[in-house]
Amino acid sequence: MSGKAVLVIDMLNDFLKGSMKNERASKIISPLEKLLQAARAKAVPVIYCNDAHLKGIDKELLIWGEHALAGTEGAEVIAELKPLPGDYVIPKRRYSGFFQTALRLLLEELAIDTLIVTGLLVSICVRHTVADAFYRGYRIYIPGDAVEDLTEEAYQRGLDEMARLYAAQLTSVEEIIKGFAA
Ligand code: ZN
Repeated sequence: MSGKAVLVIDMLNDFLKGSMKNERASKIISPLEKLLQAARAKAVPVIYCNDAHLKGIDKELLIWGEHALAGTEGAEVIAELKPLPGDYVIPKRRYSGFFQTALRLLLEELAIDTLIVTGLLVSICVRHTVADAFYRGYRIYIPGDAVEDLTEEAYQRGLDEMARLYAAQLTSVEEIIKGFAA
């Protein structure tokens, strides 16, 4: 194994424009556009991990309220970052992109050992996905300008914990793109 992939977590209408709207999140759209464009140009797989909740079943909805229900517009990736042909989309029903999804299978098939993790929210879905990635032995990079959270405190604490607990390397979109070229 020796490949990189970019994970894009929950950049969905409901999180940017809908029921879970978050003003801070909009500033990562443009860095993410650059990152995804560069990844595709270098044939680095782009993998979306998207909430697709089942109403009346997923307990997460009791905590957060209804959001990103499977099959609704709110559960679609925002227009600016729409998946393109050749990208991969993994629906998830829990915080982690790995839990009971096809992500692990896909990463094995693509021979990926390094994950560049982006999206929302640093202290929740990003963190749980990164924890599961660490348990499974992946090398993890997190560009700080391509992840966000509801508050500065949650953002900082989330990044700090992922660096400390899961050996995630904190970096930037610019540095990641330089790494693609190398
Ligand atoms: Zn959710």
